[in-house]
Amino acid sequence: MSAAQPSLSFEFRPASPLTPVRRREEILAAPGFGKFFTDHMVTATWTPQLGWHDAAVVGYGPISLDPAAAVLHYAQEIFEGLKAYRHADGSIWTFRPEANAARFARSAARLALPELPEGDFVAAIQALIDADRDWVPAGGEASLYLRPFMFASEAFLGVRAAREVTFCLIASPAGSYFTKGLAPVSIWLSQDYSRAAPGGTGAAKCGGNYAASLLAQQEASAHGCDQVCFLDVVERRWLEELGGMNLFFVHADGSLVTPELTGTILEGVTRSSILELAAERGHKVRETRVSVEDWRTGVATGEITEVFACGTAAVVTPVGRLAWRGGELITTEDSAGPVTTEIRRALLDIQYGRAADSHGWLRQVG
Ligand SMILES: *Cc1c(COP(=O)(O)O)cnc(C)c1O
Repeated sequence: MSAAQPSLSFEFRPASPLTPVRRREEILAAPGFGKFFTDHMVTATWTPQLGWHDAAVVGYGPISLDPAAAVLHYAQEIFEGLKAYRHADGSIWTFRPEANAARFARSAARLALPELPEGDFVAAIQALIDADRDWVPAGGEASLYLRPFMFASEAFLGVRAAREVTFCLIASPAGSYFTKGLAPVSIWLSQDYSRAAPGGTGAAKCGGNYAASLLAQQEASAHGCDQVCFLDVVERRWLEELGGMNLFFVHADGSLVTPELTGTILEGVTRSSILELAAERGHKVRETRVSVEDWRTGVATGEITEVFACGTAAVVTPVGRLAWRGGELITTEDSAGPVTTEIRRALLDIQYGRAADSHGWLRQVG
């Protein structure tokens, strides 16, 4: 797939000192998730007069913000999440970065932020990998998690779209998300708290959606659940998605069903990729509304055989249990089902270069 040409050039201002090699190796041996960051980051500024400018790769470190910066008051912020994978031959690849760039642009439009052109989004990733390629872990399911974000940095308390915006890209080495193998997660059905309403920001990847989900997530944890599942806010009947992952249901005939995009669901790149991959592997796929009742009767009759959640960070995660006030329902007890396992492997095999990339989803960055 050919990418749009970048319009920005990134000035390189190397960090000093760099993380000592031994310390970096120590971190890469057990990176966890989101705890450690590479030596550099990318920053760029936007104003109506100059557009995007001052793009640079600089040493990773604190950003100085005026206390009146609009993001701190009105949450005008969006972000993305994707990974860089090291293949067995040492080369480094990203997965469908154009899809993340397109979603970043859609999120920007919804949050009244300026669009960062696709070519510049991809060029920022390339510039950071050029600087920090030794931070991309090898082996297992390790990766370098890339976090582009954009926020209102203008110091102004009036309520309107900011006239100074900062783009930033940071990177964090990530180990396999699952330390104990592919154990099914349990999900709490949020009956009191909503994530997204029609006309709201549910389809945008913005920090505000996450802020609104934290209390529901706490409620889930208090009930011994790993994740929270949100319902539609109109009928409170239709399953939408988890706080940061999309949902799939596997039927007895091997077909896959996922909640259709209604404007309140975030369109995951993993979700779209699975729809394509599963279809070409001979699974029927369907996007439609799924109710709690459908899940309950599907499990009771044996029509629904597996449920899984998906997203960039955790790839594909089996869902074992759905719980709510006064009830629960068990899908699988202790391990991932065959279709969940098959889809997960198929996706990882492409990302890690073990299977042919017949879709042109991979882009070499190092
Ligand atoms: C990021 C995100 C997802 C998953 O998207 P991917 O592109 O697959 O990582 C799902 N739901 C929400 C709310 C998200 O923010």
